[in-house]
Formats: sequence, C-alpha cells, structure tokens
Amino acid sequence: MPKKSAPRFRAVLFDLFDTLVDFDPNRFPEVEINGRPERTTSRAAYDALFAAGYSLPGYPAFHVLWMENTREVWGERDRDPALREVSSRERFRRLAARLVPIPPREREPAAGVAREAHMKALIASTDFNQANLGLLGRIRGAGLRAGLLSNFDDGDTVRALLARTGLLPLLDPVLISEEAGYRKPSPRLFGLAAEGIGAAPAEILFVGDNFAADVLGARGAGMSSAWLNPKGAPVPEGSAPPDFELRRLEECLGALGLEEQRKAP
Ligand SMILES: [Mg+2]
Repeated sequence: MPKKSAPRFRAVLFDLFDTLVDFDPNRFPEVEINGRPERTTSRAAYDALFAAGYSLPGYPAFHVLWMENTREVWGERDRDPALREVSSRERFRRLAARLVPIPPREREPAAGVAREAHMKALIASTDFNQANLGLLGRIRGAGLRAGLLSNFDDGDTVRALLARTGLLPLLDPVLISEEAGYRKPSPRLFGLAAEGIGAAPAEILFVGDNFAADVLGARGAGMSSAWLNPKGAPVPEGSAPPDFELRRLEECLGALGLEEQRKAP
C-alpha cells in the first residue's frame, strides 16, 4: 500500500467484538448435554437461578429451552428487514416465560438473574490486547477522532467491558445496537455514528471484522472500510473488496496515513 503524506480521514469508527476485544465462545464453560460436550453459558444461568432458589426443570431440559429460545428470538431478529435489535432483557424475559415451574410473578426477576449470569460468563470469554490502548492513543494523538459502533444486545455489558479494559475514555461516541435500537448494517445506525463523531461519512474510516455488518454497512453509509481479516478469508462472492484489508488491527494506522510504531529491538 503506498504511503500517504497526510491522512485523508478525520475520524475512525471501530467495531468491538473481534476487532478491539477478542471474543471466543470456545472459552464458554463446557457442559455435557445428553452425553455430548457443549460450550454454553446456560449452565451458569441455571446455577445462578438454582442458587437464588427458583423452581427449575432439570438442567438438560433447561438447556433445550435455552437453545429453543435463542434460536427463536435471534431468528426473528435476523429476519427483520428493518434490522431492529432485540435486547437481552427481552430475550431473557422470553426465556423466563418458558420456565413453567417458576410462578409468573417471579419470572421478571428470574430473567434478570439468568441474564446477569450469562453476561458474566460471556465477559469471562473475552480477551483484551493492551496494545490496543496504545493504538487508540496514537490515533487520537494524531488529532483523529475515534468512536465505537457495536452490535450487541446489552449496552450495560459493553460499557462495563470498555471500562474494565480502559477503552471507554478513548472512544466517543460509544454506540451500541441495543441502545440505538438497530443493528449494523442499518444505515440509520451508521448515520447516528457519523453524527456522533462529528464528521462527514466520506471522512470516516470504519474498522471491523464482519464483512456484512461492518464493510457493507460502512459502504452503504458512504464511509471507507477497513476489513480486519486475520485469517485471510476471501471477499464474499459478488461483493467489491473493502478499501483496506488488515491482517492485524495495528495496520489500520497505515490506512489512516499514520506510521506504525517500530518495536524496540
Ligand atoms: Mg465484530
């Protein structure tokens, strides 16, 4: 990629999961379901409900209800042409409605207990590269603005994760699909992000790992895109390539017209 003398971008927007923070569902606790090992947070939710004294079906039955509920809720969400987000509160409310042994009036607090345990297990399955703090510092030090646009169904969990990693004060705006009501690649959401960061779409570079949500979403909104593609996956058939393709997140500096810092030998 030829070096540019001056950055053409005034702002950069980042995706969160598998871009600024790594998320690995293979780190979910392993449980045995009908003799087969599975990775799931459902056991953590079950144990929390049990400890709180709720009447429950047996665990394998609970896990089946859990999976049915997730498939149903996310299926509806993914078929919605308006790209509306379904909050985790709603997903767990619907899970609790399936837990027949719990009296109806106790289902709302039970949903909260299950949701909290699930989110805790999910956070425990993330990994953060401290070098990303330096990367953001470098970007902001060069006078560029940096913000976040994340598809996630629980805004509080994202904000807690950003606070814990030290990312929170480095990102403005922080836009989360659960709070905004829409999911990437919704043009409405990208429009809100451009407004929030105070730059025209053409002046914004979007950096993310998901081709459909991040690259196509950014393109649809008139932003440039940098696809974080560490494994070198092919560009989906029928799609034009992104403006930049990155193997490592640090390479976004090149796309922004900034030099990568040399490591001391
Ligand atoms: Mg992602």
